[in-house]
Amino acid sequence: MVPAETVAGAPFALAPFRRALRRAGPELRRDLPWVGCGDPWAVFVSEVMLQQTSTGRVREPWRRFLDAFPTPAACASAPLAEVLGLWRGLGYPRRAKALHDAAKIMVERFDASVPTSVEGLRSLPGVGPYTAHAVASFAFDVPVAVLDTNVGRVLSRALANRALRAREAQTLATQLLPRTGAAAFNQAMLDLGARYCTRTPRCEACPLRRACRFAREGGDDPAPRSAAVSRPQAPFAGSDRQIRGRLLHAVHERALTRRELAVTLGDVQGERLDRLLGQLAREGLVSRRRSRWVLGAGGEVAG
Ligand code: SF4
Repeated sequence: MVPAETVAGAPFALAPFRRALRRAGPELRRDLPWVGCGDPWAVFVSEVMLQQTSTGRVREPWRRFLDAFPTPAACASAPLAEVLGLWRGLGYPRRAKALHDAAKIMVERFDASVPTSVEGLRSLPGVGPYTAHAVASFAFDVPVAVLDTNVGRVLSRALANRALRAREAQTLATQLLPRTGAAAFNQAMLDLGARYCTRTPRCEACPLRRACRFAREGGDDPAPRSAAVSRPQAPFAGSDRQIRGRLLHAVHERALTRRELAVTLGDVQGERLDRLLGQLAREGLVSRRRSRWVLGAGGEVAG
């Protein structure tokens, strides 16, 4: 008889999966420089960068950023333009501004350190439930479950073999967490989701297949319909995301007039250029100084 625990009225065999994942942890481990680095600020920066960017694209910017800003205080005292300059290649630059603002709050309210509790972390700009749990777990070994798209896929396939609602996924992730070694367990879940339990799962090679319901029972893949699992993004090429990045890159090189920006970008003109510039200005990422656009706030911000 398989020991079962109940989530939303349904029994799930948590203990065998928990044991199997613990055994497979070392084999699953990816070589990521921020894992086990022992520096809460470095962990915090990695989690903000990983919010919408893949691990491969985060490694170099993460090193560069920490070389320039090894502490929250160093980041807080730098101009936003410098922080944005170091964000190049990561996309979604609003995160850079939020990180800069978070560093200032750490200096003002948290003794220039990363807050140690989930509540403290949630009070910072740009920090949602996932990031707060990840930093609390990986930097301070707080026993909280980390639930992202990788973990969402594992839960729906390996434990439930059906699509999970948001509350079920969170409850299941929490119940699955062992009493000790929560950080290593969370990391193993993320590693499993990133290496084997990917969008197209690699079940034949997966070390968890004996403890996995989807591998045993088969059926339609439940992950795409499950809560916490992100849907595929629209293509990057030609998207507003890409053009915003190109605009920031252009004004990082030097201050430019609107006409010069239109020439530099070439394929982006008229209403679209004005709309994206206005968006970046409202977010405090660019501003107008006299007739030129510059990186960061501080100029005459246009609407
Ligand atoms: S056996 Fe397949 S579905 Fe199960 S955890 Fe491994 S990769 Fe995911």
